[in-house]
Amino acid sequence: MININIGMIGTGYVGLTTGACFAEIGHNVICVDSDEQKIKMLNAGQVPFYEPNLDKLIKTNVANGRLQFTTKISEAVKDSLVLFIAVGTPPKDTGEPDLSFVENVAKEIGSAMIDYKIIVEKSTVPVKTGEWVKETITRYNKRNIPFDVASNPEFLREGSAVSDFLQPDRVVIGVESDKAKEIMLDVYAPIKAPILVTDIKSAELIKHASNAFLSTKISFINAISVICEMSGASVEKVAEGMGLDKRIGPSFLKAGVGYGGFCFPKDLKAFIRIAEELKYDYRLLKEVENINEEQKERFVKKIEGLLWNLREKQVGVLGLSFKPNTDDMRFAPSIDIIAKLTNAGAKVKAYDPHAMTNAKKIITNIEYCNNPYDVAKDCDALAVVTEWDEFKQLDMNKIKSLLKLPIIVDGRNIFDPNTMEKLGFIYRSIGR
Ligand code: NAD
Repeated sequence: MININIGMIGTGYVGLTTGACFAEIGHNVICVDSDEQKIKMLNAGQVPFYEPNLDKLIKTNVANGRLQFTTKISEAVKDSLVLFIAVGTPPKDTGEPDLSFVENVAKEIGSAMIDYKIIVEKSTVPVKTGEWVKETITRYNKRNIPFDVASNPEFLREGSAVSDFLQPDRVVIGVESDKAKEIMLDVYAPIKAPILVTDIKSAELIKHASNAFLSTKISFINAISVICEMSGASVEKVAEGMGLDKRIGPSFLKAGVGYGGFCFPKDLKAFIRIAEELKYDYRLLKEVENINEEQKERFVKKIEGLLWNLREKQVGVLGLSFKPNTDDMRFAPSIDIIAKLTNAGAKVKAYDPHAMTNAKKIITNIEYCNNPYDVAKDCDALAVVTEWDEFKQLDMNKIKSLLKLPIIVDGRNIFDPNTMEKLGFIYRSIGR
C-alpha cells in the first residue's frame, strides 16, 4: 500500500468526509478551509456539521497523525502530491454555478507550487471547467512547475457519506496523462469498487448527468403519484412493480414532497444552463424542475384542502432537513413548504432532530419545539416533511390526543394509511 500526501481544499460536507476517509484508508491528509471558525472547531475535536460516523473517523485519524487541519492552502500545497478542490459551487441567480471559489483555489495553488502536483476537481463543476483550472494554474505558476489536472467527481450522499465513500458503486477518474492516472489509481487502490478512467470532460459530465438522471427518476415517480391519486391506484405498488424490472431498479422511486439539498436543485439548474451554453434546450430537465416545484405546492394544497382555510390555523411540521440523517438545510423542501403555509396565514411549529440550529438561520417566523409531541400540541394539522426514523416510532395515540384536529398530511409516506385510519386520524399521504 502506497501512502500518498493529500491536500483537501474545502472542508465542508464533501471535503471533510473525503479527507477523513482518505486518512482512514492510509493516506496522509491535510484539510484546508478558509473558514477559521471551522478549522478552530476541528482542531478542538469538534465536527462542524452532523454526519453519522464521521466524528469517530476524524478522532481516530487525528490521533494516529494522518489527518490535520489548517486555514493555509500553502501548507497543503507544500506537503501534498495530490490536491483536491472541494469548495462550494453554489448557484448564481441565473442558475449557473458560481465557480469563483474554484478559481481562487486554483490561483493559490498555482502561486504556491514548487514541485509536481496533481490538482483534482472534487467539487461538482460544469464540463470544460478542467480547462479553466489548467489555464488559471498555468497563469499563476510563475516557476513553470509541471502539473496535471484531473476530475474525480464525488457521489457520496449526506446521511450515509462515510459508507458511500468507503464502499462506492464506482469511482470516476478523468485524466489526461499516464502519470496522473497511475497516481490517482494509487490514491483509490484500497477502495474495492469499479474504477472508470476517462478523459476530464467525460468525468465532469458523468456527475451532472447522474444527478440529472436521479432527479428525473424522483420527478417521474412524483408525477405518477399524482396519477395514482386521481385514479385510486397506489404509488408504492406501482413503484414496486416498476422497480422489480432490472432495467429500472427500485431506488429513487419514492414519491414525496420533492427533492432538495445542495446537489439536485443546483446541479439540475447548472446542467440546464450548461446545455443552453452548448446550444441545447434541455426541456426534459426543465420539466423535472417544474414537477418538483409543483409537488411542494400540491402538498400545501392538501393541507389547505383539509382545513378549508389556512389563515389563523396552526400547522405542525415534523422534519426540516432536506432528508434524514443530516443537518443540511440547503434547498430543503421544508423552506418552501413553510413559506407557503405562513404566506397563507398559518402559524407553524416545527421540530427536527438535528437541523434546527441551521433552520433557525433560514426560517425565522415559526416556533421551534423540543420534540414532536410539543409540535403536535394544539395544532390543526400535522405535516411530515422529512422521514426521520424517530417519527416512525411516535406514540400516535398521544399525538392524536395532543392535536386539536386529528389531521396528518404525510409528505414522505412513513405511516400505513389503514393503521392511521383505524387510530382515528384523517390521514393523507402522497399517491396512495
Ligand atoms: P460546503 O459548503 O459544505 O463546503 C465547502 C467549503 O469550502 C466551505 O467550508 C468553505 O468555507 C470552503 N471554502 C470556500 N472557499 C475556500 C477557499 N478559497 N479555501 C479554502 N476553503 C474554501 O459544500 P459541500 O456540500 O461540501 O460541497 C462541495 C462541492 O461538492 C460542491 O461542488 C458540491 O456540489 C459537491 N458535492 C456535494 C455533495 C453533498 O452531498 N454535499 C455530494 C457530492 C458533491
